Amino acid sequence: MSYIFNLSNCTLCPRNCGVNREAGQTGFCRVPSQLIAARAGLLAYEEPCLVGSKGSGAVFFSGCNLGCIFCQNHEISGTDRKELPPGKQITAQRLSEVFLELQAQGAANINLVTPTHYLHRIIPALEKARAEGLSVPVVYNTSAYEKAEMLRLLEGLVDIYLPDLKYCSDALAMEYSRAPHYFETASAAIEEMVRQCPEPLLDDDGQMRRGVIVRHLALPGHEEDSRAVLRYLFKTYGDRIFISILNQYTPMPAVKKHPLLSRALTEEEYDRLVDYAISLGVENGYIQEGGTADESFIPVWDGSGL
Ligand code: SF4
Repeated sequence: MSYIFNLSNCTLCPRNCGVNREAGQTGFCRVPSQLIAARAGLLAYEEPCLVGSKGSGAVFFSGCNLGCIFCQNHEISGTDRKELPPGKQITAQRLSEVFLELQAQGAANINLVTPTHYLHRIIPALEKARAEGLSVPVVYNTSAYEKAEMLRLLEGLVDIYLPDLKYCSDALAMEYSRAPHYFETASAAIEEMVRQCPEPLLDDDGQMRRGVIVRHLALPGHEEDSRAVLRYLFKTYGDRIFISILNQYTPMPAVKKHPLLSRALTEEEYDRLVDYAISLGVENGYIQEGGTADESFIPVWDGSGL
């Protein structure tokens, strides 16, 4: 199947930059039409239902269309820089080979990390890899700042959606991610993901084969908005989705002087949020044990595996 993407007037995502990425121009996501990735390999630090015995087969794409000021992968998200973010330029053909190599290494799935701005390359790569024997689930790991009509192109190619829901408050979305209408946009994107994957399906080993896991990164000093996110997700979807509450917020250099974001989340803040989720009735959920707020958990962006 072939799709028509107009990268000479890029409107792939809700930013609608209208730049000519074919001619090398870059918009908010900071990358031209060519696919640039920073690393591919087996990743153990994902939800237990995604890692199997060897890890999730993650491909980290360079650039980002959300660009949060606190991003722990800011070196490759690159929205705060003028030059291209670091990474290796590869073709869709090579990307399809990378998917198959990860599967051969025992990856539980193929985990597309920050893929939104490369849909025009990822879709043909997935189709090629599927035709050549890719059989593990494909995970679409996204900020959820997506257009629902673009997600519809992934129907049948993606098995597991792994979106964030970062904020309910549009004011916070503007302050931290410069993302207008974030909640309206992300909630519509998640609705489309749940339409495609309406019920979670796990195998006998507890590994997810199909479904939606929504992540929420708890930010220090923002308990009310985090509660609103959890309330919205559970009241809207109940146990049709998994909710993963992350405590791994790590203050990066760009926010070291920020009045609220300059510290890690406290254990008490996280415990209160988990208790709130339990009080709502959330059963399909993941929480993190202490000790994950550390820059050493951030991978090295050395182009390995590509
Ligand atoms: S994919 Fe990039 S260039 Fe295209 S609209 Fe989104 S942010 Fe802008």
